[in-house]
Amino acid sequence: MRGVMKIAFYSTKPYDRRFFAEAGSEAGHEIEFLECRLDSYTAPLAAKFEAVCAFVNDTLDAQVLEQLAAAGVRLIALRCAGFNNVDLEAAARWRLTVARVPAYSPHAVAEHAIALLLALNRNVHRAHNRIREGNFSLDGLLGFDLYGRTAGVVGTGKIGACVVRILAGFGCRVLAFDPYPNHECEQNGATYVDLDELLAESDVVSLHCPLTPQTHHLIDARAIERMKDYVTLINTSRGALIDTPAVIDALKRGKIGYLGLDVYEEEGDLFFEDLSNQVIQDDVFARLTTFPNVIVTGHQAFFTREALENIALTTLGNVTEFAQLGTCSNGVAAAR
Ligand code: NAD
Repeated sequence: MRGVMKIAFYSTKPYDRRFFAEAGSEAGHEIEFLECRLDSYTAPLAAKFEAVCAFVNDTLDAQVLEQLAAAGVRLIALRCAGFNNVDLEAAARWRLTVARVPAYSPHAVAEHAIALLLALNRNVHRAHNRIREGNFSLDGLLGFDLYGRTAGVVGTGKIGACVVRILAGFGCRVLAFDPYPNHECEQNGATYVDLDELLAESDVVSLHCPLTPQTHHLIDARAIERMKDYVTLINTSRGALIDTPAVIDALKRGKIGYLGLDVYEEEGDLFFEDLSNQVIQDDVFARLTTFPNVIVTGHQAFFTREALENIALTTLGNVTEFAQLGTCSNGVAAAR
């Protein structure tokens, strides 16, 4: 089998082109950079390509996968860790191999979660705006020490484990919940408890589990009621872990004190695009941006130089491995 493939690369941004063009020319693969998102309208563009490279908001449902398979595609190379946007059963049905980048820089995402937390608890975003307006008053900027607070980490895989380490360094009491406890986190001072106890005791809750049918709306109205008053909630994982209207209701009541989001359930219509000349049609998202105690970033937690280099190298390594062996060690398959 040949060692190079023709890759249709969807949702291309300038930074993708930069990092993949460098890594791609070394690997010898032929990459066609397409700016459009992958969906049923754009799937026919993959005709004559053996591999498709896709990102977090590309559509990889049963219909699109059937179209890709019919067009001759054999490999879906995701340039991300999460694979909740892929219908894995349909992929198996159409004999499509799905590969991902399981770890490119857990530090990038963990550090961004902490950036959101620190900006919120010291009102850095508001202080920045005030100083630019010549307003040097401190009233309304009162923060709280993280030292001695209880922080709950939900999901202690690669990213959650980094978050545990950082929070322990701040002198937090760290609680963790994961169906598969991570011994390294316990060594770093985390105590595993069940989810209800974590929610009831934590001043800060940070989400680092994948989006699955079990974790969809993990933070809903019921979960919020179990949380401490004035809790800080951070989500850098996937938007649908949170029931956004329930969170907005809790923000309005003061039940949630601070909210830091890098992901949003309906982000597919918003994130990664410059919409500054348009009226945002998503009223739920628009409401979120009106709160002084909410910071939203547009799915940028992964966005560091180190992470992009690793994403390009691993994604193209996945393609090379598939081209040579017909399988991929970073493959993902539907649970049987
Ligand atoms: P990982 O697979 O290493 O860890 C996920 C952990 O979650 C595992 O330990 C797993 O046991 C645990 N888990 C599964 N179900 C759970 C549940 N119901 N409750 C609690 N824990 C549960 O993954 P990772 O590399 O640490 O990434 C975590 C998530 O971060 C990814 O799934 C992805 O959605 C998200 N992510 C976001 C960005 C970003 O830019 N914002 C970048 C990369 C990853």
